[in-house]
Amino acid sequence: MKDKALQFVCTQCGRVETKWLGRCPDCGSWNSFEEELVAPAQPSGGKSAQITTETKPLSLDEIVVEPGFRYESGISELDRVLGGGVMRGSSILLGGEPGIGKSTLMLQMIEKCSFDRSVLYVSGEESPSQVKLRAQRLGLSLPKISIFCDTRIEVLVTVLQKMKPQVVVVDSLQTLSSGEVASPAGSVNQIRFCSTELVGISKQLGISLFLVGHVTKEGVLAGPKVIEHLVDTVLYFDQVGSGIRLIRAAKNRFGSVDEIGIFHMGEKGLTAVPNPSSFFITDREGQSAPAGIAYTAVVEGTRTFLVEIQALTVPSKNGFSRVYSDKIDTARVTRIAAILERHAQIRLNDQDIYVNVAGGMKLSEVSIDLPLALALWSALKGVSLPSSLVSFGELSLAGEVRTVGFSEKREKAASELGFERVLLPKSNKGKGTLKQYPVDTIKKALGVCGTIG
Ligand SMILES: [Zn+2]
Repeated sequence: MKDKALQFVCTQCGRVETKWLGRCPDCGSWNSFEEELVAPAQPSGGKSAQITTETKPLSLDEIVVEPGFRYESGISELDRVLGGGVMRGSSILLGGEPGIGKSTLMLQMIEKCSFDRSVLYVSGEESPSQVKLRAQRLGLSLPKISIFCDTRIEVLVTVLQKMKPQVVVVDSLQTLSSGEVASPAGSVNQIRFCSTELVGISKQLGISLFLVGHVTKEGVLAGPKVIEHLVDTVLYFDQVGSGIRLIRAAKNRFGSVDEIGIFHMGEKGLTAVPNPSSFFITDREGQSAPAGIAYTAVVEGTRTFLVEIQALTVPSKNGFSRVYSDKIDTARVTRIAAILERHAQIRLNDQDIYVNVAGGMKLSEVSIDLPLALALWSALKGVSLPSSLVSFGELSLAGEVRTVGFSEKREKAASELGFERVLLPKSNKGKGTLKQYPVDTIKKALGVCGTIG
């Protein structure tokens, strides 16, 4: 026993250190390190492991791929981010802040799944009657679903072995505990140990395992990040604007991570928003937009959305410029401001800059450079951008407007929403659905905006 070593683990990201640190160098969390005892690896006693038929290597020809290996969860937006459906034997982590709707989404999903699959819902947060009441409030009928409220991992594993359900939801992973681990439920040790057990048994039995994990800013509980490497798919659930939820894959062994799922949260739970192209722009009922607003079309996975970038500039009080922007990276806003200053003689270095995106979507595509520049220019000059104009393009540090992908797709989405004109990179010029204004420099782009009205 003397070989037990002490180490410290960040509860937010799982970083391991030999001594306690006040701030995690990886994820930047404060006071997130927790003490943990590591037992030495069990000596194997010199005996080599027995080879059984199950551990024998197989040739690829011997492996039979059963039909129905991937099936639809019944929630279209969830299937979209999963890459087309749920894989049998796969483990999916669903992370998000408490109260955002993770349990609601899971209950809605298992109702759909339970028509042709056996489902076990493991609830460590709510009693069976609370779960039932919640389901009734959502108008769900769950007659075929088994609920289990014991979160001791040893008991749970026995139940899974006996019952062999096809879908298991564990809500939440922070309530799981094992008698073999000394630390309390919700600690890094417990989460790691219990998740490893569950992921292992699910692979073995072909169970699709959903692990719900709370993300807490305070770091009271260890975050889902500590098990991201254990599971096949990591989904994060986010709130944007009022009543809108986005679901994104941070990791997906069975599909791309480009797709986002969009839901509307109402009294009856989450409803999919299958056609969100106009979801993120403000309806001004034919009125032209005020100064500081630029429209663009962004591509996320297979879908294109129209979004509205808003900028505001005010003379800074202390002589230097500050940037406030959380939907677009502040470094990017600063870079675009510098390009405007150097290549279009737009003075922004004595201004405080505020940038926002209507609807609250975070934007990271390079194509938003040009519309962002236009919004800043429009805000500073107090002049509205030309009506029914959409723009996209990347800006180089030399002030050039560079090519972006999916030009036709963006134009098509914009024209469907009533936009008529597009300011785009000269190299993207071609047959489009809108009246095109091709430009190759930011200076020319602003010139066009000043003349077409
Ligand atoms: Zn960390």
